[in-house]
Amino acid sequence: MNSTIGEAKPIVSALAPGLYFVATPIGAARDITLRALDILASADVLAAEDTRSLRHLMDIHGIALGDRPLIAYHDHNGEAVRPRLLRLLAEGKSLAYASEAGTPLVADPGYQLGRAAIEEGHKVIAAPGPSAALAALTVSGLPSDRFLFAGFPPPAAGARARWLAEIGEVPATLILYESPKRVSSLLTDLAASLGGDRQAAVCRELTKRFEEVTRATLDELAAAFADRAVKGEIVVLVDRARGRKADAESVEEALRKALKSMSVKDAASEVAAALGLPRREVYQTALKLSAEE
Ligand code: SAM
Repeated sequence: MNSTIGEAKPIVSALAPGLYFVATPIGAARDITLRALDILASADVLAAEDTRSLRHLMDIHGIALGDRPLIAYHDHNGEAVRPRLLRLLAEGKSLAYASEAGTPLVADPGYQLGRAAIEEGHKVIAAPGPSAALAALTVSGLPSDRFLFAGFPPPAAGARARWLAEIGEVPATLILYESPKRVSSLLTDLAASLGGDRQAAVCRELTKRFEEVTRATLDELAAAFADRAVKGEIVVLVDRARGRKADAESVEEALRKALKSMSVKDAASEVAAALGLPRREVYQTALKLSAEE
């Protein structure tokens, strides 16, 4: 067992040098992890997408900034500020970075900083925690065996149509972020592009006071949100296409591949889920193929 599980006291007083990506709450302030608090309390330097939000979070949890620098690093100043952060890492400092909410890099800044730190040979460490994508998947009631986090859809109509056509084909639960102003038109576009009978969920204000999850088909959701002034933060999830007939040849090909490393039962489950087919049907084919071999 990992020896740190269950320890309530701060594990470290001085952090090893490196870049620490710290996940922060998406609503409920107490969703911060104990390890995230340790890191925020002991990093030599702090950097944040929104320095005021991080200071506020630290105040709530009684963590003093002291005389440590707190540097703003976001989409608009990344190019200019990154060299300074990399210099601090090269000096052997521990640097904690938090985005405004949730997990850095997930529809948030951090990717370029992480890449550059890795290229320069620095340690990059995750302090995992809340993320709206996984919180939404957890409550959506949609299959969680395979999912695609697609982020924010492009706002321009043409780009959005191409983007929806591409992700609509993926045999996985789709997870999308969208602003409340655009959620109604997104649901209409999703129903038109992916098919109105697909199961979906709209998760609003997760972990907050007015948390709300609406589960229905895309057609029903588009109708429900059509005349509604929606507020708050939103994740939209869509089930994979169901009932579309994959041809027998592709089912057999997928099964042969899966049977190389799995039992008949597991191969059938995996292929049925991937192709959106009834498991019993695929299991019969898997039995036949395995008997032939
Ligand atoms: N890094 C964050 C994460 O790990 O989820 C996401 C940051 S992204 C800029 C903000 C978007 O995440 C919002 O527009 C919304 O789609 C989603 N989001 C964030 N907090 C949420 C919440 N409490 N409930 C529902 N969606 C949320």
